[in-house]
Amino acid sequence: MRHESVMSVVVAAAGVKFDTQVPLIIVGAGAAGLCAALAAKEAGIEAVVVERDDVPAGSTALSAGLIPAADTRFQRKKGITDSPAVFAADIQRKAKDEADPAIVDVVTARAGSLIEWLAEHYGFPFEVVDNFNYPGHSAMRMHGVPSRTGRELIDRLRHAAETSDIVILAKSTAQCLFADSECRIRGVEIARRDGSRERIGCEAMILACNGFGGNPELVHRHIPEMAEALYFGHPGNQGDAIVWGDALGAQLSDLGAYQGHGAVATPHNILITWATIMQGGVQVNSEGRRFCDETRGYSEQATEVLRQPGGFAWTVFDARIADVARQFDDFQKAESIGAILAAGSIESLASVMRVPATSFVTEWNDVVTLKSSSGQDRYGRKFSADQACKPPFHAVKVTGALFHTQGGLAIDSKGRVKRKDGRSFPNLFAAGGAAAGVSGSTAAGYLSGNGLLTATVLGRLTGETAAEQILHSRGGSLPSGSTPAFSQGAGSSAG
Ligand SMILES: Cc1cc2nc3c(=O)[nH]c(=O)nc-3n(C[C@H](O)[C@H](O)[C@H](O)COP(=O)(O)OP(=O)(O)OC[C@H]3O[C@@H](n4cnc5c(N)ncnc54)[C@H](O)[C@@H]3O)c2cc1C
Repeated sequence: MRHESVMSVVVAAAGVKFDTQVPLIIVGAGAAGLCAALAAKEAGIEAVVVERDDVPAGSTALSAGLIPAADTRFQRKKGITDSPAVFAADIQRKAKDEADPAIVDVVTARAGSLIEWLAEHYGFPFEVVDNFNYPGHSAMRMHGVPSRTGRELIDRLRHAAETSDIVILAKSTAQCLFADSECRIRGVEIARRDGSRERIGCEAMILACNGFGGNPELVHRHIPEMAEALYFGHPGNQGDAIVWGDALGAQLSDLGAYQGHGAVATPHNILITWATIMQGGVQVNSEGRRFCDETRGYSEQATEVLRQPGGFAWTVFDARIADVARQFDDFQKAESIGAILAAGSIESLASVMRVPATSFVTEWNDVVTLKSSSGQDRYGRKFSADQACKPPFHAVKVTGALFHTQGGLAIDSKGRVKRKDGRSFPNLFAAGGAAAGVSGSTAAGYLSGNGLLTATVLGRLTGETAAEQILHSRGGSLPSGSTPAFSQGAGSSAG
């Protein structure tokens, strides 16, 4: 696999000639890049989105597409009380107060209006997930599209971008950034799939090309505990933002932080929703024994599962819980291909799982007792009577995986990339997985939804700020040109 050597930065690029000049370049057409492009367009600035794939997808397409937001009309309709302050406190509690408060405040304050914006302006049919809650959230605040898939989310964003006449340069990889001696970004060189190269000049740039989960060398360097783990995110996310940022003297933060997951069905490689746990399911290892409090969070559970004999575990639940899990397309897929085992009793389930019945049945009976007495187990997990399970029972074999990295370019509260000396770059912005997240320095700091929260909210924010800055530098005048022209032959639109 390529990589870091291909990505480069040319500083003091005063004499560089560009083939085309555009107001704003956005690198990456995931949730962050497309939200940024839509916001810039609404503010009167044309963005060109450079995307290495044929069609926008990214990790966004692989996700469950759930965006957390507080105090939305979707919550109010269901009688859910919530506020940005409560949401911010939840993020910091999970991140052990390590997240930058300025970024936490801005994303929690703006998440509600992000949801309303996508719903009102672009017709996103959001619903709040209200039949289970994710660990660490003190209110039901996950907003999703009906299929509960990131594929639907990104397809809707792409449709919005296309109907807004936003240019998405597909099959085009940004490789070299050009900056002047003041660290002002002048443009980018892109490599097209057909072998051609083009230099595009810009007035501002937004890096929305996610983190480095797809780059084994960088994962090995910064997250050694996951170096051998399954990477379940988008392979095109190879850390370009941090490679460029490093070369430009940007501040890089929390590179050891990531979103892991402790329930990817193996060997099928399908995400099993954490609803299975939050509704009362448990995990046992190949010896039929539980090994931790599964409800602390699915992210830190990745290494817990990988530490078990054989690097796997079983998630065990019942038919009631399976019903809740079926709202996710992925769970239905897992069922349809036979990944979810079933049995009429715990003893016969032990037999199909091939785990020692004695230890498994003892563990299970302990949990049954704890549920009926609303007790707490040896790991600190609290159970309640409404989590009781009854036959038929289900089990799915799962492993731990790396979903996406949470460290990246440090940004200020407007999304501007910070330099090592604390000042911000004049016209370089970062959003989503390219920027340092709000999860602190470890996997355990990841609160469910932090990924799409910072992708969508910071995407929109950076689009607005970059547009405002471009207009300001032009003395407030709207751009004269229309959508920049790019040759169709080179793959000008993702459509
Ligand atoms: C299985 C899974 C489930 C998840 N579920 C959730 C969830 O329910 N809720 C949640 O909040 N988060 C979830 N996440 C995390 C979430 O998907 C990410 O945080 C989010 O999608 C990041 O968005 P992004 O726009 O920054 O990156 P992406 O969506 O990954 O987009 C980045 C794009 O940049 C492109 N790119 C990269 N480098 C270049 C380059 N040099 N030139 C051109 N293009 C480039 C890539 O091809 C890609 O299309 C999940 C992640 C996974 C893997």
